[in-house]
Parts: sequence; C-alpha cells; structure tokens
Amino acid sequence: MTSVSEALAIILGACAPGRRERAPLADGLGRVLASDVTTDVDWPPFDTSAMDGYAVRVAEASGDRPLAERSGLVAAGDLPPSPLAPGEAVRVMTGAPLPPGTEAVVPVENVRREGGRVTALSAPRPGEHVRRRGESIRAGSRLVKRGRRLSAPEIALAALAGADPLEVYAKPRVTVAVTGSELVPVSAKPGPGQLRDSNGPMLAALCRARGVRTASRAAIADEGPAVRHLFAEAGRDEDLLVTSGGVSAGDLDLLPAAAAEAGFELLFHGVAMRPGKPVAFGRRGSALWLGLPGNPVSSAVAFHLFGALALDALEGVENPGPAFVSARLLRDVSVRGGRETFRDAVLEAAEGGLCVSPLETLGSHDLAAHAGANALLRIPANAGSLAAGSIVECLPLGTLR
Ligand code: AMP
Ligand code: MG
Repeated sequence: MTSVSEALAIILGACAPGRRERAPLADGLGRVLASDVTTDVDWPPFDTSAMDGYAVRVAEASGDRPLAERSGLVAAGDLPPSPLAPGEAVRVMTGAPLPPGTEAVVPVENVRREGGRVTALSAPRPGEHVRRRGESIRAGSRLVKRGRRLSAPEIALAALAGADPLEVYAKPRVTVAVTGSELVPVSAKPGPGQLRDSNGPMLAALCRARGVRTASRAAIADEGPAVRHLFAEAGRDEDLLVTSGGVSAGDLDLLPAAAAEAGFELLFHGVAMRPGKPVAFGRRGSALWLGLPGNPVSSAVAFHLFGALALDALEGVENPGPAFVSARLLRDVSVRGGRETFRDAVLEAAEGGLCVSPLETLGSHDLAAHAGANALLRIPANAGSLAAGSIVECLPLGTLR
C-alpha cells in the first residue's frame, strides 16, 4: 500500500499550475502570484520626518542653544523645502519631506519655543526621528516572490510598488461529487435507511477555505451507469474532480474500477493511514480525480492531506502541502494497528510552546468529535502508543485555542 508521504509526492508530481491571469489588486488577497512584484520606487520615497517636530543639525541643537525658527511649516504632501540654513530649525509634520541637511528631528514636545527661537530640551541623537529615502526598500528590488499566496501586508507592498493589476495563477476549477444511494439533499428529511449528504457541503467549504469555489453535482447513486457517466464527463468543466464515497472494497464501491474503465490511470488507491485508507487518485490527460472515502472524518482527513495539496499545487503555491508543526503531547495516546494515524486533537499555545491533546472519538463517522478539533495529531506507523510529554507532529486545521 502507498504511504502517506509517497501519496503526497505523487499528487505533487501530477499537479502543476495552469493559466496566468490578471487580477485587480483589490481582489488580490489570497491569490497566488505568477510573477515577482518588483518596486519602481524607494521606500520611504524621500527623507521624511517620523514625528511632528523640528528639523535640525545635531551639533547646533545641542547644549541648550536656541535656533532660529523658519517661518511656516512643512506638511506631508508639500514639495521638498529648501536646505536647512546654519543655525536654523524647520517645523515639520509627520510624513513631511525634510529640508536637505537635516540630521535629526526634535519632537515638538521636546522643545522650548519663545520669540521665534527654538531650543531643544535635550541633545538629539544623529538620525533620530528621521526616515531616510530607501532605508527600507530600494527601487528595483523584489518585494513579493512568485508563488506567494498574498497576505494583507503583501498587498500593501504590491500597492506601494504600483503592481495593479497583479499577475496571478488562475484558480483551479474543482467539482465536488458525492456518491451513495443512501444520500438525500440537505433540504430533505431522510427516509428509512437514508441520511443527509454532509460531505458535499463540507468539501465545498474546505475548498472555499482555500479560496476555491466549487461546482457541485447532485448525489450519484451506487449504480454502474451513473458512476460511468461521472467519469465520462470528468475533466470537461474542471481541473480536479473530488468525489466522496464508493472507493473502498465493498461490492458497491464502484468508483476505482469505473475510473480505470474510463481511461483514468490510478496513481494510487489505498494509503496506509487511519482514517482515510481507501483514498484514490487518478489522472486522464489533464483531468485529475481525487476519490475521498465516504466516512465524514475520513473524507475530511484525506482532504486535509491530499486535497489541500492538490489545490495549492494547481494554483502554483510555493511549498504546497501539509505544514506540520511540533507540539508536546499532553496525554498518553495509543493506537491500534500498524498504519499511520491522524487523530482529531486540540492544539493550544501554552508556556513553553505548543501543546496537543487527542480528542476522544467514536471513529471515522464521529463528525461531532471532528468539529471540536483544531488539529490532526500524527501518530507514526507502528508507534503503538505515545507517552504524555513526547514531542509529536500536528497538522493545524484552524486557529489555535
Ligand atoms: P463509503 O465510503 O461510500 O463506503 O461510505 C462510508 C460511510 O460514509 C457510509 O456509512 C456512508 O453512509 C457514509 N457517507 C458516504 N457519503 C456520505 C456523505 N456524502 N455524507 C455523509 N455521510 C456519507
Ligand atoms: Mg457509499
């Protein structure tokens, strides 16, 4: 059986970013840059004051000596003023261009003003409250790298560089299709032997959480024609088809065989993990298929490992894939069987670092337990049990408690 790390490598190898497109900067949050953002201006763009105060020369403003105050003031947005004359102090506002020759700005609360004269109450240090042109960023330098999923501060960097529109990778087109003859839509009251489809909405939400809006299909019955139709159409409207159910070893788990019959190469089917073992991944030309198990927690766990990687790699993100963190285990945990295990857990920041507690769970149908988790605790294959205090790997799923 394929290991988790092998399965991740297979997906990474099969998913490459597609089209580039232009996006307005205003819609850039969470988009992935397809080319570097380089700035055509210095930052700060001119020598400027960090305080409301007086632009001075350090030696002249030291030793309790009064300076001659230039009339008027320089505000943010004014043209650069004429150079500082000997013995002069120029009133400047925060963000104002400084007179050439300025060595420091003395904050207004640190001066005494009388009769057109200004005296610093203490000697300024060279460079104090002065922001020099280009001290943070030089024109021509790269501010944000291709492959970054843009954060708000990176939007600010792109803005100061004049990068509007942005060059980004197109979002992958994803369809979610659930399978199972027992499923009824959320709006229906389940009859005997039926249940509402919870995976469809969950998987759509997991994609949305990564910025991908999905198309969804009505639930597909566990019948040959319906399943064959699904794979005949796969790839027509999407880069990635994500299915739920029908991939394990039962008589009515029709998807892997139907996919193969429809010309999909099964790159893996079955991964040595718990939950989520039946997960399948296939390719036909540029069409990709990720077959998640139907059990809700299995579906979620397999999505967090493989679906998230596929979406990120298809969108051209640098370093895609699960970002595990180390944490200290707060309770003993034991596992059955030899497979790598992913347990619902609560990850929290504590004194001395991250801590993690496994949650009690009834199994891969226990959505209520899963909904209380903000991380998956990774228990290596054949670990048997881990003692409280061990350092373990976790995959954060949301915000820390
Ligand atoms: P399967 O992987 O198709 O064998 O399904 C395993 C279990 O997950 C069965 O108990 C199904 O009823 C359940 N299940 C399958 N699909 C869904 C779904 N979309 N929403 C909720 N439960 C599901
Ligand atoms: Mg099923």
